[in-house]
Amino acid sequence: MVELTTAPNLYVHFPFCRRKCTYCALYSRCGASEAERADYVAALARTVRVLTDRRGNGNPLATIYFGGGSPALCDLRPLFEAIAPNLTSKTEFTVELHPLDVTDANLVMLKAGGVNRISMGVQSLDDATLKAMGRGYASVDAARAFARVRRRFDNAGIDLIVGFPGDPCADYGCLDDWGLTHCSAYSLQLEEGTLLALQERQGKVDVPSDDWTLDRLRTVAATLTSLGLRRYEISNYARPGRECRHNLATWRGEDYIGLGDGASGRLGRFRTRNWWGQAPAGRAQAPEIEEVSEQTDDLERRIFALRMREGLDTGDRPRWWPVLDRGVDERLLMRDGRRYVLTPRGTEVCDAILADLIDA
Ligand code: SF4
Repeated sequence: MVELTTAPNLYVHFPFCRRKCTYCALYSRCGASEAERADYVAALARTVRVLTDRRGNGNPLATIYFGGGSPALCDLRPLFEAIAPNLTSKTEFTVELHPLDVTDANLVMLKAGGVNRISMGVQSLDDATLKAMGRGYASVDAARAFARVRRRFDNAGIDLIVGFPGDPCADYGCLDDWGLTHCSAYSLQLEEGTLLALQERQGKVDVPSDDWTLDRLRTVAATLTSLGLRRYEISNYARPGRECRHNLATWRGEDYIGLGDGASGRLGRFRTRNWWGQAPAGRAQAPEIEEVSEQTDDLERRIFALRMREGLDTGDRPRWWPVLDRGVDERLLMRDGRRYVLTPRGTEVCDAILADLIDA
């Protein structure tokens, strides 16, 4: 943690949820008491104060991201107070919101705490699918919740999952009214240990084919583009200037501090991982620290670069040129000098391109 005090970005994880969504393998737990959540926030606030003291003045954070889980299940005010000395008017401060957490009281709390960007997990626009996901709201509730968010935050977006079994949604045109500045559209990942994976093994649900999901992802991409959002990473779209700066920073390999149970962080070649496990909620544990090799660190950065619109600069990697030039011939990549950028078709087969690069 000491070494990470100079990192310009901060991620804070809140591992609390109302109930587990059927598809979700993220690190979170349900049923934590109010006292447990308050202790957790108090432990985070103490840690932030220590970090702030070590950072000293004149070293504010460029980005902050509260993810989960559902951060707004906690009273975040003590943490906002601790973070305040690290904020400037230029800090991008994002909080993930579950639609059921969108209350006036929570929105006021977030605004007062310096939050200036909201990411709301909508996941589907179909009521039966939302029910099968275990989300606890209907699509009209999500639309109303987002409208409330937008009245207070001019920078707000949503997450969607594409390819959930039985989701009939083929038209995302209703998003036209939402005023999105950002949208993340992910294809469903069937994760071991989830209820959905069990249901699939038991033959209770049919996960759609990759081709079907790709077709829907193309529909989502076309809709978001028509709404003025630009694809800046395989799964992420934003109005120009509204790209998530925190995610861009981590994808570009910048250092970030990871706080909270389940959070990871990085400083150069060091990776940190927090596991508070069975520790009382109010007692933060020291992170596990791993040093990765120069090659691994370099490869990670390049993998993320290829996923982004800014593309992969290979000026110093001539051995990759034949693989990537083949991709240009197959219209999977566009080339500008020795920088390569995925085409729309290339975004669909990026993993295969990356596998070829790793072998090259
Ligand atoms: S998707 Fe979000 S709300 Fe649902 S269980 Fe996972 S972390 Fe919790």
